[in-house]
Amino acid sequence: MVARHDQATDPGLLEALLQARRGTAFFARKLNELSVDDLDGPSLLPGWTRRHLVAHIGYNARAIARLVEWAASGVETPMYASPEARNQEINFGATLSPIALRHLFDHSAVHLSVEWRDLPTQAWHNEVKTAQGRVVTAAETVWMRTREVWIHALDLDNGATFADIPVPVLARLLTDITGAWQTRGTDEGLVVKVTGRDLTLGDIAAATPTVVSGPLPAVVEWAAGRGNGGVTAKQDGAALDHVPTAPKWI
Ligand code: ZN
Repeated sequence: MVARHDQATDPGLLEALLQARRGTAFFARKLNELSVDDLDGPSLLPGWTRRHLVAHIGYNARAIARLVEWAASGVETPMYASPEARNQEINFGATLSPIALRHLFDHSAVHLSVEWRDLPTQAWHNEVKTAQGRVVTAAETVWMRTREVWIHALDLDNGATFADIPVPVLARLLTDITGAWQTRGTDEGLVVKVTGRDLTLGDIAAATPTVVSGPLPAVVEWAAGRGNGGVTAKQDGAALDHVPTAPKWI
């Protein structure tokens, strides 16, 4: 018999699933606000219309569902056949009729949610490989999806802001982003400080770092390369006229 509730029992994992599903619902809300004509308009991602973005989110759910199926069955099913196949799929999806595009989003999201729901407790520890070649546990697929739906809801460019993203998701995003900089060594002399919270990340050992600070949503917006409206930058205690561009993230 198929269970109607999540098989997972770990409280942290259940909380993570909630954030992923909330993010999916948020993306759905922003998508529903777009008219047929709006879909043809540009997204915030260079070269992509909103159609491309919706197609990407739909195919991303299918790709992540393949990883969950892999974790369940032990049979290797990669996210995409190749980076080219991924891009071709998105370009094709962008040509679908608006109704088909919305169905792609809805059906793929439900499918992924069901794959997560039915994954047995012990299988969440099974390892799979992402499109970037990273070996992760099935549990990590929840975060992979969470950051896609929340950030790309903003990339639809119809009113969502970083302040709409729940605090735990913002905090994890910032840890991810600054972690990626550190791995690549691109954060030299750069410190990120979240005001109102005891949260300082980056090259904290630097003698005279450039310190970029602001409230959590603004700092994440800047770090994710989506704007610097809510942050300020200082060096040696003196305010800088221009906030530096954040190092590349993905
Ligand atoms: Zn994406």
